[in-house]
Amino acid sequence: YCIYMVFWGKIMRANELKGKNLLHIEDVQKIYGNKVVLDDIDLSIADREFCTLVGPSGCGKSTLLRLIVGQEKPTIGNIFIDGKKITSPDITRGIVYQKYSLFPHLSVLKNVMLGKNLSVNIFHKHKNKKEFKEEALYFIDRVNLKEHYKKYPHQLSGGMQQRVAIAQALITKPKILLMDEPFGALDPGTRESLQAFLLELWKEFKMTILFITHDLEEAVYLGSRIIALSQYYTDKNGKKRDHGARIVYDRIISTDIKSTTAKASANFGKLVQEIRHDAFDPEYLQYIQQFNLLHPDAFITVKTKYSNKI
Ligand code: ADP
Repeated sequence: YCIYMVFWGKIMRANELKGKNLLHIEDVQKIYGNKVVLDDIDLSIADREFCTLVGPSGCGKSTLLRLIVGQEKPTIGNIFIDGKKITSPDITRGIVYQKYSLFPHLSVLKNVMLGKNLSVNIFHKHKNKKEFKEEALYFIDRVNLKEHYKKYPHQLSGGMQQRVAIAQALITKPKILLMDEPFGALDPGTRESLQAFLLELWKEFKMTILFITHDLEEAVYLGSRIIALSQYYTDKNGKKRDHGARIVYDRIISTDIKSTTAKASANFGKLVQEIRHDAFDPEYLQYIQQFNLLHPDAFITVKTKYSNKI
């Protein structure tokens, strides 16, 4: 009876989060061939959260993002935006990749307008061309590229190209902006200035962001919430298993101090160390029961094959 109550409580909790939060992922597993990449992913992200996602290389971060975009389907489980199950890519999710977001033969203006064109039907496209142009110029201005709107991608620095890619994603007014290592190819100085710039945009546009990076400092600096995926964990039998990555770490990060000096503080370093230990150390196999799931919206579904062990 008691176990039943616990299970019922978990179902209620998952449903409550699904009703309240913008992005809701429940009991998702992804298998390629016979390789389990992601295992029992439960994740619920509220509106306006800046969620950073870290994890060892190859643990499935980009795979999870592709599932959220809708380019691929989970093997098991569902993903919801505003309570609605996603089936294919649409404008509720905008995306910025590390590279190749822009068309080389199109100007900055045309590239940004393209984002808008993709989101409306042919009829509206012709009717509102002037309006679209003005909207594109507005976003180009917002990413500080007003003087460069006629230029082509090869005439811009890497940092400028990424700002165009951000404008291209923002013009569709996505409910959530997904970013896959967007600053990974930039030199350190440009990277820092784009990090500060993204934080400003996040506040100004009241955005919801899910940002993948393998750089822990970047994740702790940017996020209001940090999540770590890892394949380095074990169940209570203590055996190392051939399993997919799970969310092993999930907590709020204070956004009060987001100055660049925050990176030098003792707390910042402690947090980076803690996550490195919990998620990146192949020798440290954390028990499922001990995962650092401290965020109030962290939850575990009942369907998981480990549920009787938690
Ligand atoms: P990350 O982004 O964390 O570095 P990925 O999501 O790119 O990890 O990859 C996770 C794992 O899934 C890797 O082992 C990769 O080889 C495998 N993988 C990704 N996509 C495919 C695919 N389409 N077919 C088979 N295996 C894949």
